[in-house]
Amino acid sequence: MTVEQFIKDRIRANGSIEISEYMALALAHPEDGYYIRKDPFGVQGDFTTAPEISQVFGELIGAWLVTQWVIMGKPESALAEIGPGRGTLMADILRATANVKGFHESISVHLMEISTTLRQKQWNTLAGKHTDILWHTGFAEIPPKPLLLVANEFFDALPIRQYLHAPDGWKERRVTLNDDDQLEFIFVPQAPPEFLQHEPQSDRMYEHCDAGHRLMVVIANRIATYGGTGLIIDYGYEGSPFGNVGGNTLQSVREHKFHDVLVDPGTADITAHVDFYNLTHAAAEGGCVIYGPVGQGELLNRLGAKERIETLCATATPSQQKTLISGLARLTAVDQMGELFKALCITDPHLPKPEGF
Ligand code: SAH
Repeated sequence: MTVEQFIKDRIRANGSIEISEYMALALAHPEDGYYIRKDPFGVQGDFTTAPEISQVFGELIGAWLVTQWVIMGKPESALAEIGPGRGTLMADILRATANVKGFHESISVHLMEISTTLRQKQWNTLAGKHTDILWHTGFAEIPPKPLLLVANEFFDALPIRQYLHAPDGWKERRVTLNDDDQLEFIFVPQAPPEFLQHEPQSDRMYEHCDAGHRLMVVIANRIATYGGTGLIIDYGYEGSPFGNVGGNTLQSVREHKFHDVLVDPGTADITAHVDFYNLTHAAAEGGCVIYGPVGQGELLNRLGAKERIETLCATATPSQQKTLISGLARLTAVDQMGELFKALCITDPHLPKPEGF
């Protein structure tokens, strides 16, 4: 059964479903979900992510993690990535840190991934890069010790719910079937969580990612209890959604083009902009200190992206130089990924302000 048939059967049986349920099924249905059935990345795929664009992304993050680990007093730690895609970022982190005395010996590597297809890819990418790599389906499985955590374009894939503040009261946007048996959005009277009810603007959409909020609290709580740091990079907005940011950010992408969210679920990526305002509050709720978010471009530049590119270019062919330079521009330029993508750092309250923030 395709995920579309599965979704339609569920609506026929029980009525309309929340967008969060639609998103969770489309992306992660155990047999036919988007991340389960295909490798979505790269030119041949549907979208490209920072580690797939430039090795420098992972190298700079690797060096940053080592700096944090040294400040923490070089403890035995869990190096964890949530939503590792093809494993490219972790491979670059491990390669860039291989010569740091004692680092690889002090860490075990943990990958939180739901997709068996992508786990296989990650396994291939990471073969020989570290002796102690484990895969997990949930964060709770990652052993309780000091944590060095990275997440790139993970939170945008977590299911959201949408609420409209209509003149006649709050409504939730849900997914239903129309008379032609096609998927369709409808609005159903439903109040959002209480914190979204403050000073709402009329006829405006508000989004809430409960899964992201809850996971962030748990991660922050782990870090506050056992020590460590987390670096979360994603595209999204940072001000309060009660200002002019946010709204309806639900989107679908297939083959590098926008796609209708409700057409052929399971064959296209579905994401929503990350609400950094909410993630920041979740991290504080979990007991962490928060730095940023800062623009991805700003962070990479502060961590020495230009200098790293220059070093690589010194021994590269002209065509490699071109790729390196254009990759850096894509990651850092304000009209590309430099500003829309943001980096948030959460740390155990005993650590000083991290480099780059
Ligand atoms: N970080 C990677 C991939 C981002 S795509 C990169 O930068 O290239 C999102 C990743 O999160 C995929 O690996 C997807 O399978 C995984 N994922 C999505 N939802 C998940 C969930 N609920 N639990 C664990 N992994 C999930």
